[in-house]
Amino acid sequence: MYAEVHKEFMVKYRTKGKDMTQKQVLKAFKDTGALLEGHFELRSKLHSNRYFQCANVLRFPRIAEKLCRAVTREAVKSGKLGKKIDGVISPAVGGILVGHEVARELNVKCIFAEKVQGKGVDATGKPNTVLALRRFSIKKGERYVVAEDVVTKGGRVQETIDLVKAAGGKVAGVVLLVDRSGGKVKFGRIPMFSLMQMTPETWTAAECPMCKSGGKACHPGS
Ligand SMILES: [Zn+2]
Repeated sequence: MYAEVHKEFMVKYRTKGKDMTQKQVLKAFKDTGALLEGHFELRSKLHSNRYFQCANVLRFPRIAEKLCRAVTREAVKSGKLGKKIDGVISPAVGGILVGHEVARELNVKCIFAEKVQGKGVDATGKPNTVLALRRFSIKKGERYVVAEDVVTKGGRVQETIDLVKAAGGKVAGVVLLVDRSGGKVKFGRIPMFSLMQMTPETWTAAECPMCKSGGKACHPGS
């Protein structure tokens, strides 16, 4: 069982037709502090030798532009997005910068959905949040690409897809920088494109090899 949990940190190399190689993408993540190497205790309390914070790479507009352009071109080249794209929509906050660059490449408008207070409570008893279109509207029949920085379970992307559909729009595809799901996340028949797939290697504190060799985990960013 642990063999599955302790999956190796893996990066899939998919360089075909891209104007940035996976090696260059990884270098950009490392150079900008988006991908940290060390001994970390994550929010889940699990330990890992790597930590990924996408916002750190998106701090640099020219790098963000290059990364988003690469995955957008791959999506366009696939022919799966269809001909007419009216806009790009992202879940706030992380997705906005990616959506902006994807929209630049597609030469369409870019909008975002924001968190608002929902009706129920979450698992911890706090009021839950849902995504809503607060300052933009989607016209019936418009086709959108949904853009996001990182997807782990895909909940916010799915909510964004649902918003577009509820407004009478259509979703042409999903464009991501990083898929952390190990290829597990899918959005039905909607084509999905990611610049990179990264699955973190994690351990419980008791099983962590770095703890076993006397190391002490730190919290990312501290
Ligand atoms: Zn540890």
